Amino acid sequence: LFSGPIEFLKSAPGLQFLPSPDAPEIAFAGRSNVGKSSLINALTNRNKLARASNTPGRTQELNFFDVGNPLVFRLVDMPGYGFAEAPKDMVKRWRFLINDYLRGRQVLKRTLVLVDGRHGLKDVDRDVMTMLDKAAVSYNLVITKADKVKPTELEKRLDAIRTESAKHPACHPVLYPTSSETGDGIAELRTAVLEAART
Ligand code: GDP
Repeated sequence: LFSGPIEFLKSAPGLQFLPSPDAPEIAFAGRSNVGKSSLINALTNRNKLARASNTPGRTQELNFFDVGNPLVFRLVDMPGYGFAEAPKDMVKRWRFLINDYLRGRQVLKRTLVLVDGRHGLKDVDRDVMTMLDKAAVSYNLVITKADKVKPTELEKRLDAIRTESAKHPACHPVLYPTSSETGDGIAELRTAVLEAART
């Protein structure tokens, strides 16, 4: 299915620009530079479906892509978060946009929160997990750049993340370690995304 048609639908810088909620949505969130664009491109077998990383100061928007013809689901690329140098009001704007989107978005079936395998969970990730818990939007943690971490170290990190995520009510227990570089875990994640879209 992911090898079928995928089309950019629109960018939404605010609630009034969201597409009509007529298809299931799967959203991708993560700190800037976590590897979100690379992962979306790997999942969809595209070279540059996801636009280049948002840079500080750029407009923050949700980007919607239609997957499948007939439409099966919408992939939602959320703006990256956690820029070290982000001005306060930009962080505020990000929170408003995301909260607006999450709140009452019935068609949002699942959010994937990407976590850099080299760093594990950071406070900004915990913050986003709490926002999702409060909005009762179910989510999975997806580990990126797994190829950058030694297998024994990766296992330890995954265990620590599992233990912590068990305390988050909306977080699914299944973790997806992935590498966009080697393709490890991509097929499994693709299956999980399709399943989530269909439930
Ligand atoms: P985004 O800001 O979250 O969209 O991150 P990008 O997809 O642009 O990736 C940020 C950097 O990490 C780029 O230099 C990528 O080449 C690198 N990167 C992304 N995914 C992987 C991965 O799975 N393995 C490795 N080794 N590098 C990756």
